[in-house]
Amino acid sequence: ASKAARRTGSLNGPAENTLGERVKVVVRVRPPRGQETGGAIGLDQNGTRLVVFRENSVVPQSEFEYDQVLPPSATQADVYQAAVQPIVADVMNGYNGTIMAFGQTGAGKTYTLSSIQPDAIGMMPRAGAEIFEEISADPGNEYTVFMSYIQIYMELIQDLLRPENENLQIRESENGVFVAGVQEVEVKGMQDCLHLLQIGDRNRVVAFTNLNAHSSRSHAIVMLTVIKRRRLGATSRGEVQKVKVGKLFIVDLAGSERLKKSRSTGLRATEAKSINLSLTTLGMCINARADPNSQHVPFRDSKLTRLLQESLGGNAKTSLVIAVANAIEHVDESLQTLQFGARAMCVKTQAVINERVDYKLVSDLTSRLDTRDERTSVL
Ligand code: ADP
Ligand code: MG
Repeated sequence: ASKAARRTGSLNGPAENTLGERVKVVVRVRPPRGQETGGAIGLDQNGTRLVVFRENSVVPQSEFEYDQVLPPSATQADVYQAAVQPIVADVMNGYNGTIMAFGQTGAGKTYTLSSIQPDAIGMMPRAGAEIFEEISADPGNEYTVFMSYIQIYMELIQDLLRPENENLQIRESENGVFVAGVQEVEVKGMQDCLHLLQIGDRNRVVAFTNLNAHSSRSHAIVMLTVIKRRRLGATSRGEVQKVKVGKLFIVDLAGSERLKKSRSTGLRATEAKSINLSLTTLGMCINARADPNSQHVPFRDSKLTRLLQESLGGNAKTSLVIAVANAIEHVDESLQTLQFGARAMCVKTQAVINERVDYKLVSDLTSRLDTRDERTSVL
């Protein structure tokens, strides 16, 4: 009944439009660890270029340019400033945003995105903290925030907040691509985000222990949905509100390293194939999107790219964090990683504000904007 009482209409086009923006690429170089030998990467003064040296060579092997290159001394706050803060600000205003981390296993993706070490809090909890800071500074609007946490492994989408759901499907509505049936938990503060992150990570560990496999082979994706409502007034038939919906995807991609042949038998071989499917397709989509003459972008060829379709040139603002180790031992993998990042510099996006005027009854205040799965608040 509540659904019938609601009519949704778009405003006269987006209030603002950022046609011509492109994916922002930020490289983070981590210091050598353990037995690794440093001296593989050199940075310029401006913080936008880097060079890669092979062992025993004084001549750089390759030179790259990005939006920003963060040295090993960079803090989590520096990464946040460069790659995340501008996107979170936009999500609060009804844009879709994506933060993706790409790089070989051990390069620092998970540390960057979801560390919960008190002295090195990662991007995901930081984004959560900022969202709730902005909410408390803006009493003129009513906000609701939902969090979901999934992983994609061997082309199956598992709900990390409800791990028994291990084969969720991707669907499309006029509001974009979404994961049907995913658990969306209402979060009221950064502590809730941290809590859910830990629950999800624990479920991820259990899933991989059961499979006797390693989680670096899966893509982990946190989704935060910020619904912002402003009351425009009441009519005899009900309340009129302006509603903006911003979605933030935080994507910890599977390790980008090529799997060694010796390990690629049995489960590992299937695994290698489906991981290659998602990551290879991601690379192909980026290549296609970077090429102005390209006619076809193979978004539909993998779960990951289907889900990230909007982030790679649709309605989203996207930052790509390229994680590399300053280690001679990893120069080959680092070069591959850096080349991927260089291509992503050419990918254009077209983010628009997701804004609607919602006509609804007062009793319908908590209804959702689309016909998705159930949202719960069971923290
Ligand atoms: P990935 O997720 O890319 O496989 P991790 O984030 O797990 O890599 O990082 C591997 C190890 O390196 C972890 O022990 C992590 O704490 C450490 N590490 C990564 N980046 C940094 C950094 N910038 N500063 C200090 N330690 C780091
Ligand atoms: Mg990791």
